[in-house]
Parts: sequence; C-alpha cells; structure tokens
Amino acid sequence: MTDEIRHTSGRVFFVGAGPGDPKLITLRGVECLRRADVVIYDYLVNSQILSHARPGAQLVCLGNHGGWRTWTQSQVNQRMVELAQQGKVVVRLKGGDPAVFARMAEETESLARHGIPFEVVPGITAALAAASYAGIPITHRDFASAVALITGHEEPSKSDPSLDYEVLARFPGTLVFYMGVTSAEAWTGALIQAGKPPDTPAAIVRRCSFPDQVCIRCRLDEVAARLASPAKMAPPAIVVVGSVAGLTEPLSWFEKRPLFGQSVMVARPGEQAGTVADRLSELGAEVIAQPAIRISDPPDWRPVDDAIERLESYDWLVFSSVNGVRYLLDRLLASRADLRRLGGVRLAAIGPGTAEALATFHLRADVVPDEYRAESLAAALAADARDKRFLLARASRGREVLAEQLRGAGAIVDQVVVYSSTDVASADEGIKQRLAAGGIDWVTVTSSAIARSLVAMFGEELRKARLASISPVTSATLRELGCEPDVEAQTYTMAGVVEAILQTTTRNSQKRWI
Ligand code: SAH
Repeated sequence: MTDEIRHTSGRVFFVGAGPGDPKLITLRGVECLRRADVVIYDYLVNSQILSHARPGAQLVCLGNHGGWRTWTQSQVNQRMVELAQQGKVVVRLKGGDPAVFARMAEETESLARHGIPFEVVPGITAALAAASYAGIPITHRDFASAVALITGHEEPSKSDPSLDYEVLARFPGTLVFYMGVTSAEAWTGALIQAGKPPDTPAAIVRRCSFPDQVCIRCRLDEVAARLASPAKMAPPAIVVVGSVAGLTEPLSWFEKRPLFGQSVMVARPGEQAGTVADRLSELGAEVIAQPAIRISDPPDWRPVDDAIERLESYDWLVFSSVNGVRYLLDRLLASRADLRRLGGVRLAAIGPGTAEALATFHLRADVVPDEYRAESLAAALAADARDKRFLLARASRGREVLAEQLRGAGAIVDQVVVYSSTDVASADEGIKQRLAAGGIDWVTVTSSAIARSLVAMFGEELRKARLASISPVTSATLRELGCEPDVEAQTYTMAGVVEAILQTTTRNSQKRWI
C-alpha cells in the first residue's frame, strides 16, 4: 500500500457525545465509534459511551477535572493529523456538541491544512439537555423568542472583552451560561450591573442527565451563593437565566421518576443485565453493573450433542433458565439439525423469562407453572410423568429437586449440562469501596448462585445495601449466608424484583429542588 492510499483512508470524525447519559448520542456517532481505530476523548465524556468502540480500539483521554489538560491543543491537533496520515480512523469524542465551546475550529483547521478528510457529527449540547432535563422550555412564545449560549469563563473585567453585558442584559430571550461555576460572582454581577433585574429566574443544572443530576432554582442574584454553598458545587454545571427558568416546576420530570436518587447494583451476568438495567434507569435509578456469576460454554459439548441427536426420543424438554434455552437451541441450530427435531417434544419453562427466551426461537412453552420455582414446575409436570422421558437442560450447578421429583413421579429423567455457571472471583475495586461506604442503596439477588457469589465477593459489606431477592428459594439461601433480604419479589422474575424495589422505595416524587 502506498503512503498516498493510506493517507486517503485515514479520517477524523468529530462526534458529540451528548451531556452524559450514554443513550443520548446519535446513531451516526455510535457508527463512527464502532469504526474507530483510535478514540480521543475529553474527560467530561461518560466512559460508558466508549463501550461502543470495538475491543481493540485505542482509547486516549485528554485531561481531567479542573480543565487541566495532559495534552496541549497543538499536541492534540498534531496527534490527529499523524494518526489520520497513518490511515487510522480517528474519533474525536467531545462532550455535548463538538461545535459548542469545544475548540472545533482549531482542530478542524489543522486537519484541513493537511488535507485530511473529516466529518462532524452533532451532539446534544448541555444547554438544550439541561433545559429538557430540568423541564424548562428554553424558548416560549410569550417569554423567550431567542436563546444565547454564553461562556461564563471570560473575565468580565478583562481589557478587551468579547462579551458585552449591556447587550446580554437587553437580550430578548434565554441566556445560558456554560463554564460559569467558579466565575459565577463575576458574570452574574456584570449582568446585574448592566441592567438585568436581580430577581430574574435562574436554574442551575449540575451533571445534567446523570443519575445524580441536581437542579437548583433561584434568582439571578443568588446564583453565585447557591453554587458556593452549602456544599461547593463542582462542575460541570450550566446556568439558565430568564423567565422560562421560573415557569416550569410542574414540567420537571427527571427527578420525579420513582427511583431517582437510588443506586441499584445488578449482579446478573453480562448481557442479561441489559433489560433490567434499562428498566431501572428508566425509573430513574443509577444502575451499577457488577456481575456475580459468569456464564460460559459447558465443560463438554459431547453430551449436549448426543442429547440433540436423541431429541425426538423425549416426551418433554424442560428449561429452568434463559441461558439453558439459549445454549441448547443455539447449539441445535449450529449443528446440522433444524428445529423440526423438536416437532414431537413438549416444552416446559420454569417462568415467563424462560418462556420468552423460547419465544425468541419461535417456540411456545407448553407448560409454565404458576409459581416460578422448580418444585412448582415439577408439580405441574408430575400428573402425566409416569414412564415419560424428560430431558432437563441445566447449568453446571444448581438444584436437583426437579429431577428428583420427576423421578419420584415415575418419569425417566436425563439431565444435560448445557452451560457453565461460575463465580466471578472479585468485584470491581471502586464498587467494593462504594458499597463499603454505604453508597449503594440496593443489590438485586436473582438466584441462589448469585447470592453465594455476592457473599463471597463482598462478605459483611453486602449488608450495607438493601437486598432485593427474586424468590423464597433465593431468600432462604441469603438467610443461610447470614443476610436477611429486605424485599422479596412477589412474582419470581426480574420484573418482580424491580417492582418490589419500586414499592419499597419511598416514592421519590418529592422535589429534588434545593
Ligand atoms: N461541547 C460541550 C460544552 C463544553 S464546555 C457542549 O456542547 O455541551 C463545558 C461546559 O459545558 C461545562 O462547564 C458545563 O457548563 C457544560 N456542561 C457539559 N456537560 C454538562 C452536564 N452534563 N451538565 C451540566 N453542564 C454541562
């Protein structure tokens, strides 16, 4: 490959990451991240967004709190040019929108000078996000026909100011100040001196769209004091100034979500945490993912393949977990066999989650017991079990009760281990410390195996959080381990656990306004 060709394949995507919530990035932004060889990002960017980058991508963080940068602007520019010239796809990931107070001009100009192609992918800028997340209509047909995005970082007293506060004071709309925390006294004072009424409504929004977002409503002349006390408010915060900031308490929605302010550790393995995490975040909780068990291939595929060969000889195929469904059916489809193997076999699922997993393979469970536990499943199958052949698709560890009860009812039972379940050896250090400090409100305990692993991982400290158990069986295991569950799901599903947390948590509809 010649240098010239390599040169042309390299490019830079300026991508706006949005204000913080990892879902507030555009589809195009995610697409660019997936393609990137190198991601150069600012400290303000939520690191969860980086999970869209492919596993081998190089991730480079530029600095940390306080605006201190490990790299100078010209080093950043030069690095991007070099990488693109080596043929690399570079994503320059910036908080909010890449064109709002983000030095885009300097960075794109340097690329243009070197003939390097680039694209700019917009993001949701903090002003607009803060307005939405604080329930402020940033424009309003009666009160604000324009919006100004202003830096609060410029010293109003500097000799050649680019901001004219007389003009800003007369501006017929909403003023939004970025980077104005430490300088609040200066810019609010300058505005008031220039004629803006001191009682103009203001809203300070800190860490907008994060689970710990704080919104303070006050008057313009109170902004500096509110930022300074009671606890000094650290950036990032943005200040919306104008009548619209005084209108809208009834429109606020973010802090009114029922689990706002609650942190919930989800201990399910990897991708299975996804749906419950989505549900919890939607309800306003901060979700902390700490898998307690790891799901992987079975120790030996041969027994699974043999069972797949003999599938037609069974009357019942019984699944007691979502993983069991996935592993067995994926293996079935990956082998030369097809789903007709299951034609004459009846299917049983321990609960609705497992039945749903079957449904993703277009299979309907013939039996789901009323109570989602092995004993109930056995009872539901027992009446017609005599001399019938059952295959139980199971984990490498788990309870024997299903097989025993079916055998007791006269069934011929084979068990096959279709996946391994092993404990995660140690927890993330940061999560451990946070739990120990009482900084996690809830831990979801969704199986006995997870209960045991959590206790092994965290020991006594586990009791610093409230424990939400999925079922009486899991609660019993917790008790054996010396941990009393605080709530127990009424339906033994993940949704049931979320519901139990929801009911117990003091309804957080009270205002978070300070
Ligand atoms: N390009 C960014 C702005 C960068 S300047 C954008 O379009 O949003 C950094 C300033 O943005 C911070 O000082 C703060 O005023 C604001 N900001 C960024 N993220 C924020 C957030 N999540 N909550 C409140 N303000 C935020």
